[in-house]
Amino acid sequence: MDGGGTVDTQARAQDRATADGMPLTGEPLALELVNTTFVRGGVRGVLVDALRTPEDLGDWLAARAPLFSEPLRAGLAGAAVTGAQVARFRELRQALRDLAAALVAGERPADAPVALLNSSARLAVSWPEFEPGSGGPARTVTRWSEPDPLLAALGEVAVAGVGLLAGEAAGQVRACPAPGCILYFVKSHGRREWCTVGCGNRVRVARHSRRLKGDPA
Ligand SMILES: [Zn+2]
Repeated sequence: MDGGGTVDTQARAQDRATADGMPLTGEPLALELVNTTFVRGGVRGVLVDALRTPEDLGDWLAARAPLFSEPLRAGLAGAAVTGAQVARFRELRQALRDLAAALVAGERPADAPVALLNSSARLAVSWPEFEPGSGGPARTVTRWSEPDPLLAALGEVAVAGVGLLAGEAAGQVRACPAPGCILYFVKSHGRREWCTVGCGNRVRVARHSRRLKGDPA
């Protein structure tokens, strides 16, 4: 479904037209990463991948800075993003998608995504260090076992994934049931059925037109 140049360019242009390019935001960090692939346009829509380039990843991280630990944010702010780092995020994204799919299906996940999630979580290891002041007060500085702030951020996404998939909210993770939609969300209130209002409306319109045609819904 990786569209050629033209379709892709159109999708990317549409991307920029919407806030942040994502149809759904505000989900837990791990699902925010999963949801960087989505379908625009319903059942016959186009698959959009909003995490393809270093610029994409830089934008995605900047827009979600509050979801990362406070000391890491400073390191991320000035960091240059490379294609290799994008590849690592995409790999974790696939693992999280596989794990979320297994969760909602009530199945035991495959070993590979579990291993990838757990090895990625290790990148988030950090500790406080004491830094004496020269004349002024001493302060705490945070050090990471992984010196690359982008990979430390990858680690924090993985840690968030562990917390989501094995935590209290795990039972509320949903795959959007709208035809053609591939987004995941946490059912944040009892009546939430769809990932977005857009998906709910699309399904209602489709039901309505089937009724008008006399088709069984
Ligand atoms: Zn949806």
